[in-house]
Amino acid sequence: MAEDVFCKIINGEIDSEVLFEEEDLVVFADANPSAPVHYLVVPKKHIETIHDATEKDSELLGRVILAAKRAADELGISDGYKLSFNVKDKGGQEVPHVHLHLRGGW
Ligand code: 5GP
Repeated sequence: MAEDVFCKIINGEIDSEVLFEEEDLVVFADANPSAPVHYLVVPKKHIETIHDATEKDSELLGRVILAAKRAADELGISDGYKLSFNVKDKGGQEVPHVHLHLRGGW
């Protein structure tokens, strides 16, 4: 399995501004933010795109969404924010490892 940049962040090979970590996911600041507050919720399991997820990933992906809610609370943007997955090249996905964008703070 090829190691992508998010695997390297999860493994501690690349630094990032981590907000918090849970058993099966990590939340860190986007290095090139496109909103005043822009974080990424990243499952530790390497799933390339949301389109590759299966039924057995249901609970994990549920926890990813709930972690975004926790992050919004901790970041003080729980009055409103956007969550999005880019899926595959044509969907604007650049990093081949599932991640949920959390954007807010406008
Ligand atoms: P995508 O376009 O794949 O949905 O989003 C990838 C996001 O990852 C982009 O918003 C980009 O700024 C961010 N990103 C890419 N490389 C790194 C990195 O090494 N560290 C961090 N913290 N964010 C990164």
